[in-house]
Amino acid sequence: MCLSLPSCAHHPINCIVPPHMLRVLALRGDAQISRMARSLLKQTEKLREEREEHVTPTPPIRPDALAGPALDEAGKICCPDRRIHDGEYKAALPGKLVRSEGDAPTGIEDADLAYDGAGQVFSLFAEEYGRNSLDGAGMPLIATIHHRRNYNNAFWDGNQMTYGTGDGKVFRTFLELSVIGHEMAHGIIQHSGGLIYENQSGALNESIADVFGSLTLQRSLGQQVHEADWLVGRGILGSGINGVALRSMKAPGTAYSDDLLGQDPQPWHMDGFVSTSEDNGGVHINSGIPNHAFYLFCSYLGGNSWELPGRVWYRALERLNNPMASFAEWADQTMQAAAELAGLGSHEAAMLRRAWKLVGIGI
Ligand SMILES: [Zn+2]
Repeated sequence: MCLSLPSCAHHPINCIVPPHMLRVLALRGDAQISRMARSLLKQTEKLREEREEHVTPTPPIRPDALAGPALDEAGKICCPDRRIHDGEYKAALPGKLVRSEGDAPTGIEDADLAYDGAGQVFSLFAEEYGRNSLDGAGMPLIATIHHRRNYNNAFWDGNQMTYGTGDGKVFRTFLELSVIGHEMAHGIIQHSGGLIYENQSGALNESIADVFGSLTLQRSLGQQVHEADWLVGRGILGSGINGVALRSMKAPGTAYSDDLLGQDPQPWHMDGFVSTSEDNGGVHINSGIPNHAFYLFCSYLGGNSWELPGRVWYRALERLNNPMASFAEWADQTMQAAAELAGLGSHEAAMLRRAWKLVGIGI
């Protein structure tokens, strides 16, 4: 979501650059950057209003109502259906189709990154968790690159991914795998779990998107928990910005500290929980707490985080029947999933309880 308006939208626009960051840029940036940030806040508001006019809210789909996956002859979920478009620096979506499933690389760098990234996300969910695309029923993976000129954001709008190029100063790109995975995970949450995008349930929505964004990247690189950087959006900030990424799951609050961008505001413990009406109740801020719990869980277990820890988070999301879930209710759901997958009283379940406790959530 791009704005902090109180909203009950069931299909919010999920942007990678949080509104608190845009507001700081509007205040502190030079004339050009400040104008960019203000216009981005306005554009995204307009976009959201347009979507709300056209979209009929749908309740979250119950896991047992999900369509079964399409299987190939070997019994595996096969083949994403990727459709990458070039927005040609205009606002219209989806733009000109430049690469469909199975096509050779286009030579347009952003288009090929969007295509490969969507393939990595599809593969994580299909091969590790048995899910056929974002809706569980093989929906096409539609993306637009080169959206507007100097556009400092990327978003999932309920139907497709859209990527700006950045202005080269604050952001240099948005086609980074944890960002692609984060945004597409919003599409998954929309169809399973359906977490409402405000307050604690909204921060869970953001956190779960970060979890699967990071897992997409870790799996593509074959990184075990202690080899991974646990950053979301590494390398997307401009070279003049003092920061490494948008967020850190390993050390929330340390991703950037910059004269222009301000200080990364994320807490890692409930003692630092930020009560605010900004950012839909701090959805991009308080997500640091469940993010850190997931990181701790993975670090206690070692190995590949997309395996058991990823399966636990995915199972909990599939089973979640409460779109307004609090952190404690989500923690409880993950404990149930861990008990199912690793056994009641297992070492893994004990480590998960310990991780939640360390961030101040006792269950
Ligand atoms: Zn998001």
